[in-house]
Amino acid sequence: MRLLLVEDDTLLGDGIRAGLMLAAYAVDWVPDGKQALLALADHSYDACVLDLGLPGKDGLTVLREMRGRGDQTPVLLLTARDTAEDKIAGLDHGADDYLTKPFDLGELQARIRALLRRAGGKAQPLLEHCGVSLDPASKRVSFNGQEVPLSAREYALLHALISQPGHIKSRSQLEESLYAWGDEAGSNTVEVYIHHLRKKFGADFIKTVRGLGYQLADKNG
Ligand code: CA
Repeated sequence: MRLLLVEDDTLLGDGIRAGLMLAAYAVDWVPDGKQALLALADHSYDACVLDLGLPGKDGLTVLREMRGRGDQTPVLLLTARDTAEDKIAGLDHGADDYLTKPFDLGELQARIRALLRRAGGKAQPLLEHCGVSLDPASKRVSFNGQEVPLSAREYALLHALISQPGHIKSRSQLEESLYAWGDEAGSNTVEVYIHHLRKKFGADFIKTVRGLGYQLADKNG
């Protein structure tokens, strides 16, 4: 699950990002509206946490422009002012939810889960392949009916592979699903987590396609 965080306050942004990463999301963090629109155009996010008060383009403008170009990424607005006008404007411009600062990190996480669940009800069914089943809404994974605990990175990697089981994913595509921008990835990190997943789901579950990347095993063999 990849989230875009748009927040110009460094301390707050840092705290939110850390909290969301602990909750196993990959988080891209940008400090202004222009970069937010670029990021939304370049990447596909599961949800966006958008501050209203931003330098340059404010949050409402970002929201209006993204909805205007057909971007339906779920948006949770952060507002510093607890005024009805702000919330009404935000909801009218296509926000899915809002939180007033200061807020509790646990509440932010719960709201994001709710947002993803609602989006998931429409677009994210249970993903299943060769006995492995991943529920994007609850982030639970099971193998032959038994729940299997995964680390955040293992989950992110499995999600990337199982969401398009017939596709070969290159190492850089898988790295992209693992890390937010600017995070240092060790050169063999993807291999390490592929190894973990093979230990949990069987050596044949993920095939190495020489020179190209990785792919899930064929359903039939
Ligand atoms: Ca702000």
